[in-house]
Amino acid sequence: MRLGTLIPISLGAMLLASGPAWAKPYPEAERQVLELSRQAIALRSVRGPGNKTGEVAQLFRDALVKGGWDPRQIEIVPYEDTAYLIATWPGSDPSLGPVVVSAHMDVVEAKPEDWERDPFTPVVENGYLYGRGASDTKFDAALALSAMIELRRQGFKPRRGLVIAYSGDEETTMNTSKLIAQRLKNADIVLNVDGASGVLSEETGKPLFWSWQGAEKTYVDYKIEVTNPGGHSSMPRKDNAIVQLSQVLARIGHYNFKPELNDITRQYWIEAAKLEADPRQAAAMKAFAADPQDHGALGVLRANPATAGRIATTCVPTMIAGGHAQNALPQSATANINCRIFPGHSREEILAELEKVAAEPAAKFTDMTGDESVAAPASPMRDDFVKAARKAVTAAWGPIPIIPMQASGASDSMWYRALGVPSYGASATLIKESEDFAHGLNEREPLLNINPGITYYLSLYKDLAGK
Ligand SMILES: [Zn+2]
Repeated sequence: MRLGTLIPISLGAMLLASGPAWAKPYPEAERQVLELSRQAIALRSVRGPGNKTGEVAQLFRDALVKGGWDPRQIEIVPYEDTAYLIATWPGSDPSLGPVVVSAHMDVVEAKPEDWERDPFTPVVENGYLYGRGASDTKFDAALALSAMIELRRQGFKPRRGLVIAYSGDEETTMNTSKLIAQRLKNADIVLNVDGASGVLSEETGKPLFWSWQGAEKTYVDYKIEVTNPGGHSSMPRKDNAIVQLSQVLARIGHYNFKPELNDITRQYWIEAAKLEADPRQAAAMKAFAADPQDHGALGVLRANPATAGRIATTCVPTMIAGGHAQNALPQSATANINCRIFPGHSREEILAELEKVAAEPAAKFTDMTGDESVAAPASPMRDDFVKAARKAVTAAWGPIPIIPMQASGASDSMWYRALGVPSYGASATLIKESEDFAHGLNEREPLLNINPGITYYLSLYKDLAGK
């Protein structure tokens, strides 16, 4: 997933930072990033018959072995039609939990007839790499891996182990994501290269800011069902499933969950306020960071769909069905409520709150969410990560603003966080908002990310695994 990339701020009147002049070339690693991304894109790693995720894992495995990894430290584990990859570069102190680099090798389905270019034929054009998975997340996976090989080429000796952990079904069932997190629950920290990232100016193409992701809301679907005995529409009864359900939906539609902050979102509001061009929005963001019950701030932030989801749990009706004939009293009426739960609350807790809001004993609530979602806490604002990330970003792109984020959708980080392992979305790629086509048509990645991306990972790996 690549949710949470977009930030609800107007970027018009901002100071533009320019990239650092000291950027150093890494010819071998740079070539490898492009080569591996192209080869990975050409492998159609889509769930279902012909899924080539296992071949993507093989491709990465071969690159690691060539880069000096002990083949016995690399595992490709098949799972149904997919596979996952765990490759370990042991540290000198085995008592320390490893630094895990997380990504996924599967991609969302792409129909060639809808695309201008074939989604599974990588094309480099005008400084972009096109293809399904270019931005989500084969390029990032290749970049993080090639940078680690470069680190080894440079003779670095990690104190903590460095583990590449790439899942094979993040976009669908997340079975391998879950298994990997379970196996690596002794990790000190997880760097998820699929998640957050930076934004380039639409006008100049220069870096505007970089963001990292430290928390995710939990995705949940609840079914509400009202049933009645039914009967002929000429003989109306007091209870009518459609009317009852409508009243419940209206109450839920008007309901506001309690506004909240955690360390990640507090910092988000403070930093985003500095970049916000609209003074009214900026003032509301600042006021909310200071007091999440500030009425004025809530009015402004709730009125804007881009900020409404960031202040609290949200639940909205998304589908309805009911009745069976034009001249019959409905025997049943159902609705789907889609919620994005603020970290720190369970699915059961929010269900109970909705039942209370509904105030209709005839309405039966059922949690319909599958095993692909689990409530996970926000990761802590870990000082070592925050410092290492700032240093890495500055080395790569210069002193640009850094914004911590809480995403409204889930990534593989969810499984680590649910087990208490701190996980940070920390992609090295920057993109113009208008060019972010993750999951969409003509997905692309700017190649100007290659060199700074390697610089970024080298710095981050050294700082987190070196001490
Ligand atoms: Zn993704």
